[in-house]
Amino acid sequence: MDCIFCKLANGEIPTNMVYEDERIAAFKDVNPVAPVHILVVPKKHYSSLEDVDFENMDVIIDIHKAIRKIAEQEGFSKNGYRIINNCGKDGGQEVPHIHYHVLAGKQLTKLVTD
Ligand code: 5GP
Ligand code: ZN
Repeated sequence: MDCIFCKLANGEIPTNMVYEDERIAAFKDVNPVAPVHILVVPKKHYSSLEDVDFENMDVIIDIHKAIRKIAEQEGFSKNGYRIINNCGKDGGQEVPHIHYHVLAGKQLTKLVTD
């Protein structure tokens, strides 16, 4: 499958990993919208949240555990951060491989609606 995030997460395309474990990878967004903009993805391909069966929702816990570790490691756990998941066309998802945006490093605007 020709999926850019599969390739980045599994090392087929080199990238500066912010964080990596057995099932999760995290790297900087190529087009950051905040001082810190990290993408957290599972190494296994899922097109979107809607592609995850209730039986294998563990992947979502894995992502959230990784985010906590990244926040600690990168030093923004105390000041806070925002997590965004765009799901599907109306959600504004452009890359069809689950990814959570982690934004930090400044006081973000109250709500992102578009
Ligand atoms: P989406 O709109 O699908 O939620 O977000 C996709 C994100 O992936 C965008 O913020 C975009 O800047 C980022 N992105 C797209 N292609 C690449 C890439 O090749 N490398 C990295 N690091 N980020 C990418
Ligand atoms: Zn993929």
